[in-house]
Amino acid sequence: MSFQKIFSQSPETEATAPGRVNLLGEHTDYNDGFVLPTAIPQCTKVQLSFSTDRQHHFYSEDLDEQVNISEMDRTPSGFASYIYGCIQLLEKEGHAIPKLNVYVKSTVPMGSGLSSSAALEVSTLRAIRQLLNLPINDVEIAQIGQQAEIHYAGVQCGIMDQMASSLADTEHMLFLDTRTLERRVIPFPSGAEIVAIDSGVPRTLASSGYNQRRAECEEAARLLGVKALRDITDPDATQDLPELLQRRARHVITENNRVLEALQGVSSHRFGELMNASHASLRDDYEVSVPALDTLVGILQKTEGVFGARLTGAGFGGACVALVITGKAKGIATQVLEQYNQTGHSGRILVPA
Ligand code: ADP
Ligand code: MG
Repeated sequence: MSFQKIFSQSPETEATAPGRVNLLGEHTDYNDGFVLPTAIPQCTKVQLSFSTDRQHHFYSEDLDEQVNISEMDRTPSGFASYIYGCIQLLEKEGHAIPKLNVYVKSTVPMGSGLSSSAALEVSTLRAIRQLLNLPINDVEIAQIGQQAEIHYAGVQCGIMDQMASSLADTEHMLFLDTRTLERRVIPFPSGAEIVAIDSGVPRTLASSGYNQRRAECEEAARLLGVKALRDITDPDATQDLPELLQRRARHVITENNRVLEALQGVSSHRFGELMNASHASLRDDYEVSVPALDTLVGILQKTEGVFGARLTGAGFGGACVALVITGKAKGIATQVLEQYNQTGHSGRILVPA
């Protein structure tokens, strides 16, 4: 398939945006805390031209699905809602957006926790900015993408995914303070690169578990008299909380501290230790791991050339990320996957692509 075949004309412009994987700082974003994602090589490409009728036409090559939207139509569902949301929000901010032909093609796997949704929003907004010469910057693109996802796709998400897709690259990590949006692009720990493996376990309990954790964190913050758990840096300050809330709060506080330590620029070895500690904290204090993720992380952590590994994303299934010696990612990923799949799972390598 091609733009030409679907729309019988050539694209006027195109833009891409990458997926992301979070290296450190899990379940911290809704506590106003710190995150440390990086962009991955897989990306989404959006091509655009002006529509010749009074409708928007959106086509995804990956879904082989086309959606046509006229002025009278309601917000579409599915993939079109992300694109439509971006256009609507630009219009609400006063930009005149003509009817468009939009062609989407991606190498970011959908629904695997690598943030194909943010890659779709950011590539769409970049392409429109380019086509119409809009005066919007990369942070605004991330913010509009997040609002599109919340208000048009109906997904309550933080700002990390869109900021990573809009501002990170594959050679750096993006430190982000989710409260102030202060950010810094920092190099990878020296001599290290990334492996990400999907556990093959679907994130079935993810949304109920996620909402419950959010509520527990809010309750802990209320009892501690702070706006958000980000305002506490000493894990011992949680001592008087009920036992469960104490563990939840301890995860968030120690996780934020781990990101801040990594921000100082630590060795690959130390960064790996921080990832291992993050996994233990997510497993024991936050209780968002599942046996398959523990198995996969266990295999990664025992493999030569791996500095550290942990589950990444909300947990309850999904993917694991590891920091490994530069040049060894492919070999390590293949070896670990083979061992993991022998335990009765069907995992898959996400990074390196
Ligand atoms: P993730 O962002 O972790 O990949 P999400 O559930 O947040 O998972 O987003 C996946 C959704 O984003 C898909 O179901 C689809 O609606 C939309 N999407 C992402 N990439 C594409 C694409 N290339 N083509 C069509 N829809 C896409
Ligand atoms: Mg997403």
